[in-house]
Amino acid sequence: MKIAIAGAGAMGSRLEIMLHQGGNDVTLIDQWPAHIEAIRKNGLIADFNGEEVVAKLPIFSPEEIDHQNEQVDLIIALTKAQQLDAMFKAIQPMITEKTYVLCLLNGLGHEDVIKQYIPEENILMGVTVWTAGLKGPGVAKLIGKGSVNLQSIDKHGEDEAKKIVEVLNQAGLNVTYDEDVLPSIWRKACVNGTMNSTCALLDCTIGEFFASEEAIRVVDTIIHEFVMVGEATGVKLDEQAIKDYVMKTSVAAAAHYPSMHQDLIQNHRPTEIDYINGAVAKKGDALGISTPYCHMITDLIHAKEHVLKIK
Ligand code: NAD
Repeated sequence: MKIAIAGAGAMGSRLEIMLHQGGNDVTLIDQWPAHIEAIRKNGLIADFNGEEVVAKLPIFSPEEIDHQNEQVDLIIALTKAQQLDAMFKAIQPMITEKTYVLCLLNGLGHEDVIKQYIPEENILMGVTVWTAGLKGPGVAKLIGKGSVNLQSIDKHGEDEAKKIVEVLNQAGLNVTYDEDVLPSIWRKACVNGTMNSTCALLDCTIGEFFASEEAIRVVDTIIHEFVMVGEATGVKLDEQAIKDYVMKTSVAAAAHYPSMHQDLIQNHRPTEIDYINGAVAKKGDALGISTPYCHMITDLIHAKEHVLKIK
């Protein structure tokens, strides 16, 4: 299958390496000049569970994309949330009426962006617990195992989506076609909405944050706000099951700084907050549901971006 990875960063690198190893024709799109240069010179190099893997793959910047680029069967979107719209604007020439898009970004509401560019029957929304990191330009660290759940957002796209699941599984991505993926997307957003923003604000690990009674009260309130808003938009959410999942994740990841801490505190980059707590606050306002904790956390993260002079 001809596949383009739109956003060839950390997670993009995982998908690239695994899909390339699975025999697919993979093209990368990214805007980071040093990353593009390194991949063109040395290939994409990865520490893949302790083994060095090198994949020689074509990579383009958005400015280089024109109608001479081959059109693709599948685009896997893996920018940060706030970068998704610009990416889709840039890659229009690669898209035909037969092109499918799989969105694996964290957060909520990305289908609203993608629908502006792709017909609904060609959009697959997914969630993944695979992880990935970048050591530097052109060098990825891909450790551990994971899985993907996905669903076509329109019944008419279901058969093609199931064929795509087979292709992804041939590459070892451990993908399930989910008849109702939204609860899983919201559950992951709840994990991010409870630990990413809080640990970034408090500059601490997940374990350090979850160790106090106050933290548990904050976490429970955020989860409650997510559940109230999610259910009001028609997503079936089990509040206790989500709390249990968040607590289990907090134990397993206790020693880690979450990705928003890495973005905001360690690297002074903009965060995905508007698509996590911010998305719940915005949807809550539209529905008349009060979400004071999500509002406060979103405002504080933006204030911190301002303090750090992050664009
Ligand atoms: P990343 O910043 O490493 O990668 C994003 C890449 O997109 C960057 O290389 C950036 O240069 C590129 N990009 C952004 N806008 C672009 C544009 N307009 N044109 C071309 N290139 C563009 O981020 P990541 O960690 O790979 O995360 C991607 C998404 O996956 C996020 O939503 C994240 O929350 C989610 N996610 C990440 C992990 C993980 O372990 N890294 C796990 C699960 C989900």
